[in-house]
Amino acid sequence: METDSAINKQELLAITAKIKKKTTWNQISGRKGRLVLIFIGALLIFFVEFSVGMGVNSLSLIADSFHEINDASAIIIALVIHTV
Ligand SMILES: [Zn+2]
Repeated sequence: METDSAINKQELLAITAKIKKKTTWNQISGRKGRLVLIFIGALLIFFVEFSVGMGVNSLSLIADSFHEINDASAIIIALVIHTV
């Protein structure tokens, strides 16, 4: 009785871990997940490029950081099209 419940608990934990792993992978590997990932990357590059550009007074870095915002807006359009 005790061993049975222990095995059930282990099986349940294994199945839960499997489902969690599968869900995370599907979220990242799907088209929407990849778009969101690239969008987050573009925003990250914007913030780094903008802050460094402001720090070292580089107009070209600041200008390119706004180019990155333009890329991020294109990704948003792609996300909207994918959702609709
Ligand atoms: Zn670009």
